[in-house]
Amino acid sequence: MATRSASFEAVLLRSKEVPSGARVATLLSAEEGLVEAFVFGGGKSKLRSLASPWHYGRAWIYRDAAKGLVKLTDFDPLREFPDIRGDLGAIAAASFASEFLLATCALGGDWADALDLALGALSAIDEAARGRDRCAVDRAVSLFALRALDAMGLMPDPGECAACAGAIRRDALHSYSRGSGGFACARCAEADHDAVPVPQGAIAWLEAAGRRPFIEAVRVGLADEARHALKAMALDLAAKAANSPLKTLNSGLL
Ligand SMILES: [Zn+2]
Repeated sequence: MATRSASFEAVLLRSKEVPSGARVATLLSAEEGLVEAFVFGGGKSKLRSLASPWHYGRAWIYRDAAKGLVKLTDFDPLREFPDIRGDLGAIAAASFASEFLLATCALGGDWADALDLALGALSAIDEAARGRDRCAVDRAVSLFALRALDAMGLMPDPGECAACAGAIRRDALHSYSRGSGGFACARCAEADHDAVPVPQGAIAWLEAAGRRPFIEAVRVGLADEARHALKAMALDLAAKAANSPLKTLNSGLL
């Protein structure tokens, strides 16, 4: 069959103009992974506004293999995460999540988990934006990156020093080493001038977060120092895991 239609639930990660003036949307679904589709119609078309970044809903796709064309024919949003669009920090956070998912081909092909994580992060960022809570946006960004790394098998073990392979006791001082992309014991951290001290509160928060659904984990507060350390570590690990430089990390808004 040269042409085929499909329908699936998906989150719209990115929408961009191509030189021809048309718009191309990138969707993430559990069934088909990342799908790029043309969205035709002028700037005021209904489909264009329905098919906007971070909308989650049912997409209808038309494929014409002979013409090499994939077209979004309809989109019915189930969740729009409207508060993200009213807050620059939230937009930066959601853009980072999108860019990371695109740069890792949806966490290396684990589509259902990638979609689940995207929806958890978008719900938490939307709630944080509604409450004008920048700290919660930070926690959502950090948790998104660390859960994504975990899903890809790239999350370093807080119990082991990445430099000397010695054990780091749970209650001992933890540091994150940018050089090795892992945790460093107190002795190795002393020799590493770029190491970021990670307060015990950040490690405890992360452990507790692992047992909760995403949005509930993000609701739990974190002291400023712990929040900054966790975010610095999460974003450094995310940059290392992506196949290409992440523009959103250099936007200055994250
Ligand atoms: Zn060590």
